[in-house]
Amino acid sequence: MLIVLEKDTTKEQVQIIIRTIEKRGYTARSIPGGDRVSIGILHNKGSVDAAQFLGLSGVKEVIPVTKPYKLVSREFRQENTHVTIGDAVFGNGTMPVIAGPCAVESLEQVLSIARSVQSAGAKLFRGGAFKPRTSPYSFQGLGEKGLEFLAKVREETGLPVVTEVMDVENFDLIEAYVDVVQIGTRNMQNFSLLRRAGKSKKPVILKRGMSAMLQEWLMAAEYIMEEGNSNVILCERGVRTFVQHSRNTLDLSVVPAAKKESHLPIIIDPSHAAGVRDQVIPLAYASAALGADGLMIEVHNNPDKALSDGAQSLYPDQFTTVMKKMDAIRSIIGNDQ
Ligand code: PEP
Ligand code: MN
Repeated sequence: MLIVLEKDTTKEQVQIIIRTIEKRGYTARSIPGGDRVSIGILHNKGSVDAAQFLGLSGVKEVIPVTKPYKLVSREFRQENTHVTIGDAVFGNGTMPVIAGPCAVESLEQVLSIARSVQSAGAKLFRGGAFKPRTSPYSFQGLGEKGLEFLAKVREETGLPVVTEVMDVENFDLIEAYVDVVQIGTRNMQNFSLLRRAGKSKKPVILKRGMSAMLQEWLMAAEYIMEEGNSNVILCERGVRTFVQHSRNTLDLSVVPAAKKESHLPIIIDPSHAAGVRDQVIPLAYASAALGADGLMIEVHNNPDKALSDGAQSLYPDQFTTVMKKMDAIRSIIGNDQ
């Protein structure tokens, strides 16, 4: 349930409303919004009787929330959430691009890629230091050394850095080094990890589970927001289907569907969806045309020698062309969504 307040509600009136909510055993959560000041009711079992709140002074209206998710829903917050990282804003109609290799391999590698993606217009740099690999024999990432290299990239280029956190155990360490933490597809329903991310002050990129429904994905985001972190960016990265011509199937239609249900920004990772660079490129253009709130693209300075995901990594020159064409596409589509 959402309690919408009158514009001129005083602090004292708000306190009385919050106390009334808490006396009933519920949690009150202020929902920042453009014109509308409101308080959400959480942790209610079953429906809440609106009459309990309608009579309180300062209350304009009481809106029942019909969705299982609350904090992430458009019912709770009508305006798009803007997540600002460095000079990138996700959710305001612009389309910042996050680019970099699948895995951090060496300082020279990340610096070289960071410089080229920055000059092509990327706003954030990505690179895995702890890699979730299907095989235990595959390269697992450089660990803390990789985080040090990412910090060096930020120092040298000014680009904010993103990396994946695979478990609660390494959260403190990763959080101390990077600007954005990423929760990968394999961990979308790792609820203790989601709760830990919710306690973080860093923005979180939450990738969609490879077989997750939109509702399950939004519930996962709800875990993060429920713990107090509202800087959540959803990332579609392809789902498992029967096809064999691509690594996954990019679910483009989830973008308008998610935007309808939720105020959170949603970005697209065409790299992990496609698995091969020839498909990454057209999928990036489709994502730009779709009005996505951003993209995440893997780029490598020497894809043939990459320690992970070389086949889907763009060459720096290809990335530069993709960025130019995405800009052109976006200028036709416009930024108002
Ligand atoms: C990644 O972005 O490095 C990654 C492993 O992606 P996903 O979780 O989507 O597979
Ligand atoms: Mn990868």
